Amino acid sequence: MINLNGLPHPAEKRIAIHIKPAAERALRQGHPWLFDESIRKQSHVGNAGDLAVIFDGKRQFLAIGLYDPNSPIRVKVLQHNQSVTINAEFWLNRFLIAIAKRSPLLNTETNGYRLVHGENDSLPGLILDRYADTLVLKLYTDAWIPHLREILPLLQMIQPHQRLVLRLSRNIADDVAEYDLFDGQILDGEPLTKPVIFQENGLNFAADVISGHKTGFFFDQRDNRAKVGELAEGRHVLDVFSYNGGFSLYAAAGGAHSVTSLDVSAPALQSAQANFVLNTKHPQVQTAEHRILVNDAFVGLKELAQNGESFSMVIVDPPSFAKRADEVQRALAAYERLTRLALNIVPNNGQLVMASCSSRVTPNLFFKAIQQTAQASGVKLRDVETTSHALDHPIGFPEGEYLKCLFATVRK
Ligand code: SAH
Repeated sequence: MINLNGLPHPAEKRIAIHIKPAAERALRQGHPWLFDESIRKQSHVGNAGDLAVIFDGKRQFLAIGLYDPNSPIRVKVLQHNQSVTINAEFWLNRFLIAIAKRSPLLNTETNGYRLVHGENDSLPGLILDRYADTLVLKLYTDAWIPHLREILPLLQMIQPHQRLVLRLSRNIADDVAEYDLFDGQILDGEPLTKPVIFQENGLNFAADVISGHKTGFFFDQRDNRAKVGELAEGRHVLDVFSYNGGFSLYAAAGGAHSVTSLDVSAPALQSAQANFVLNTKHPQVQTAEHRILVNDAFVGLKELAQNGESFSMVIVDPPSFAKRADEVQRALAAYERLTRLALNIVPNNGQLVMASCSSRVTPNLFFKAIQQTAQASGVKLRDVETTSHALDHPIGFPEGEYLKCLFATVRK
């Protein structure tokens, strides 16, 4: 374990914050964020991770949370309505409640999954993922740093592991360098020299937990991948924005004739190929033909159509197109273009699978955009099913509902 003595302490004195009425309503409904512009009055200026107590107009306790002077989300709420002492026991309970929600996964040949999902598990800005014997702690705010002294020793007890890796969001990596903390650091346990191998629904995957996207893998799509596996038999599958081949591998294991993984990143596609190699014992994976295409998705889809290729299943799972409210229209336009391009190469009775992880694009807007595009292209979508996150990504507040996915049969 790293030397915890180098880490800062939260201030003894809590910050008292009085807020505007609109914010009071949101907090009463359990919203986990207090924005800086909603603060009316504040006892004193604090440091990242100091505890802040939020009071209503009648000076009654509303919530307690982590003060974050570097973010417009000035307080990340840990608990609403009832005052509480934030100590090791509090953290322990929070982690245990979150972990208990994941227990159904223990019966599914799955040892890679999310243990703590930030705000949605009342630990705002903190992610904890398990990859077999490796735990990955990802922090999205440096308000957690002063609390690591209490939290890190608990993790070995509640989730025994061989090593614990720290991942930091880009916005905080510089701020925490003064405590000798860095992205990809091993906080506890053995060093890591190669990707971590873990299982998801009986399939093997390797993940680069030190420098891969997020914490190395997209666990949130687990159920949607399983559904692709169920629908893939006998199909020619195109997995657009394939990353390290999650959907591709499930399709192959589900009995697809051929699987094409398309991504702009050559290293991502190499790891997709490596993931296929990890599953050669699986007879269906061994017989499925796997091809990779390094290309921009928009260009690649157009070229496939020009070459007269068609795919009886097309999966489109792009990165987030809208992180800010003013990007929603552009994101919708991109989803519409991708839908049009995908429909061009899906024959009659083919399957279309479209996913969106843009938190600003609501499920309603996303599904409507796909339906309208299909209609305008003279295509009917049948047996439409819409899905969301896997159970280790619970939805605890409106902004927590970011993933949506549509499955449909194409009729031309
Ligand atoms: N479907 C994946 C996750 C996709 S992550 C899964 O289930 O795990 C998004 C991927 O899109 C990344 O691998 C990134 O390299 C790729 N990407 C980003 N922009 C792209 C573009 N314009 N064309 C093709 N791929 C792109």
